[in-house]
Amino acid sequence: MNKLDAQRQKEIQQAEELLFAGPQALGFAKGLFQGHFVSDWVMPYPRIPAEQQAELDGTLKELRQFLDESLDPAEVDRNEDIPRSVIDGLGRVGVLGMTAPKEYGGHGFSQMANCKILEEIGRRCASTSVFVNAHHSIGIRALLLFGTHEQKQRWLPKLSSGEQLGAFALTEREAGSDAANVQMQARPSEDGSHFILNGEKRYITNAAIADVLTVMARTPVPGSDKTAVTAFLVTPDMPGFEMIEARMPKMGIRGTATGRFALRDVKVPKENILGPPGKGLKVALTVLDFGRTTFGACCTGAAKTCLQLAIEHANTRKQFNKTLGNFHLVQKKIARIAADAYAMEAMTTITASLIDRGLEDYMLETAMLKVFTTERLWECINDVFQIYGGSAYFVDRPLERMMRDARINQIGEGANEVLTSFVALVGMRGPGMEFKEIYDTMMKPTREQGFAKAWAAGKHRLGATVRVPEISVHSSELRWFANQLGRLIWRFNVAVNRALITYREPILDMQLVQERIANAVMDLFAATCVLSRHDAELQFAQRNGNSSTPERFAADLFLRQSFRRVRHFLAELTNNDDKSVLATANSILGKPGD
Ligand SMILES: Cc1cc2nc3c(=O)[nH]c(=O)nc-3n(C[C@H](O)[C@H](O)[C@H](O)COP(=O)(O)OP(=O)(O)OC[C@H]3O[C@@H](n4cnc5c(N)ncnc54)[C@H](O)[C@@H]3O)c2cc1C
Repeated sequence: MNKLDAQRQKEIQQAEELLFAGPQALGFAKGLFQGHFVSDWVMPYPRIPAEQQAELDGTLKELRQFLDESLDPAEVDRNEDIPRSVIDGLGRVGVLGMTAPKEYGGHGFSQMANCKILEEIGRRCASTSVFVNAHHSIGIRALLLFGTHEQKQRWLPKLSSGEQLGAFALTEREAGSDAANVQMQARPSEDGSHFILNGEKRYITNAAIADVLTVMARTPVPGSDKTAVTAFLVTPDMPGFEMIEARMPKMGIRGTATGRFALRDVKVPKENILGPPGKGLKVALTVLDFGRTTFGACCTGAAKTCLQLAIEHANTRKQFNKTLGNFHLVQKKIARIAADAYAMEAMTTITASLIDRGLEDYMLETAMLKVFTTERLWECINDVFQIYGGSAYFVDRPLERMMRDARINQIGEGANEVLTSFVALVGMRGPGMEFKEIYDTMMKPTREQGFAKAWAAGKHRLGATVRVPEISVHSSELRWFANQLGRLIWRFNVAVNRALITYREPILDMQLVQERIANAVMDLFAATCVLSRHDAELQFAQRNGNSSTPERFAADLFLRQSFRRVRHFLAELTNNDDKSVLATANSILGKPGD
């Protein structure tokens, strides 16, 4: 085995250990890769239980009033700081402990309800929503998910009220996208009472204002010369904690304090370990699943602001004796923003509901939500920027700030390229394993049992490719869309099978192929969420004597455009310029081609 193959095997083994925890219920996204429409996870469109909805409505009312009176996003950006009074106010409303259980001083909200809160903040100020995410979605998440009762009792009440703030510290110079490459060391003390941490972290939101940081560091694996990542709770008052740079000057979300710190022989008691020792990467990935869900909510809020700004300007600004909203090329942009904002909300709601309903494995859905919503928001901001023309460029308007703020979304909490590849590879693993079973048996037809397994796998594969999944909707107006979606899922499955048969193991490195597969499945997920929401809204309208819903056109448009994109991605799997793209890049980078 050459060095590259050995590295690949190591990566695959690491990923297997980390991501595949044994038999679990089939999730929606993994189902799509197998040609199944697991409708229970997505239909009917989830609703917040009436009792919690009333509580949410009350909290939203209080939050809006507080934000109207106290939060000035332009000032936050200009001063590069979120005033302490705003943080205290968010704490008072309950935002900083929204999903923490009531017994630990939290609000006990579901993820769906929490997403509505983050959408409201994301609508107004990206710095503030990123601050809240860093504290609540990821900063205290490991404690919420993996903490013992004693740990929660000790730390959570002050973190939930905002008296103390949290942060999540994974990234280092050598561990950016390659999160498994954490270098910070945690050596156990001789008496086993504590660990001694050494290393540096960078780009950590809230690092300089946090009272408690969840820090990922490498611990020895007992009985071997290996190391594995473990999650620790670290407080900045521990001797040896050094803040190297409290607020790294940056392009956007300037109100957030993004810092760089070092730990030099910092003694952390063993009671501060979160989750099983050596399972810190699993802890980190699970935490990020939550962060990606609220990312979706924040982007939805920002997209709604884009729509509102676009409508205001298109209806008032006149050129050529007409308001801009009369020009088709402006209308096209506004229609697309409306369609995307509708889809982003639907996708966020359904993804959050998967967590609330206890699906064990939702990492594909959260990754798809993150990529899809951050890419769409970037497009929305670009479109509304264009509608505002020259005026968008000046700092008296919010658009240049919104554009600067939005750019981090495609990079943070997993760069979109990394997540895109992840979606395709994790999704294809199921059908890929079945093909491997068939292939291995064909090559070594020695064991009867092997044949039986291969036969079962073959039947399963074949079954998925001959059946078009049936998608049932209640509204007759939507049957055509449901049928189209079913056919596209079938076509997607055929395309995945074909790609796996054609490329076999090298597909692991073929990111251009992976990207099309991931893009197609993201649109299939988005279209499903839109169909589910649209169906529920139509049913509600009809029960109340209305034949249509206010956002009917946006939903229809999204479905049409989404289906068109899926067809395009699938067609590009066989009709593309990949060879030429790679030859050009290789020649420019001075690398040998194939
Ligand atoms: C404002 C801000 C706040 C942040 N807050 C936090 C925080 O609170 N906690 C925390 O732990 N981290 C935080 N981060 C770090 C963030 O998560 C990382 O920046 C991100 O994971 C990317 O890592 P990197 O910057 O090292 O980029 P790199 O890993 O160097 O990647 C650079 C680019 O290379 C490409 N790339 C990398 N790998 C691949 C691949 N396998 N395939 C294809 N393309 C690839 C992608 O386009 C990527 O954008 C923050 C970053 C910023 C800028």
